[in-house]
Amino acid sequence: MIMSFSKGSVRSGNRAAKDLIADHGGRVTRTRVAVIEALQIAPAPMSHEDLGAALAADDIPHDRVTLYRALDWLVEQGIARRIAGSDRAWRFEVVRPDSHRHAHFHCDRCGRVICLESLQPSSAVSLPDGYQLDRAELVLHGACATCGDGPGSDNDPGQH
Ligand SMILES: [Zn+2]
Ligand SMILES: [Zn+2]
Repeated sequence: MIMSFSKGSVRSGNRAAKDLIADHGGRVTRTRVAVIEALQIAPAPMSHEDLGAALAADDIPHDRVTLYRALDWLVEQGIARRIAGSDRAWRFEVVRPDSHRHAHFHCDRCGRVICLESLQPSSAVSLPDGYQLDRAELVLHGACATCGDGPGSDNDPGQH
């Protein structure tokens, strides 16, 4: 007899936006839900501007203040995380329950912020004795694979 096991929980980092908000005791507003959903499907951290454009594309009425407040609340609650860019614009990403903190790469040429999932900021520092690390943020700067033209880039600019 062949035993068959059902796959336990599906390894999907994304929870329903409404549940996430409700779990944190927040009011489920259209803007909050839309912002979480936009961040969940985004391949890279998004700026206010990116999010505004995403909401507009979905016909979700919002203004700058509503968007700022929704993001502030999500960050306060630990649902989203803020990443500093060199252009002084914050980028945002959702905090996935199964992910550790990771470093980010800011491309100074195209302005994109890319998640470096395999690099943990906390392992990049060594503190003097007696210090205890709670949190580390690491943002690296340079040119991304698309913008860089050094060796190792697979992108042939003449080929699309
Ligand atoms: Zn770039
Ligand atoms: Zn990230």
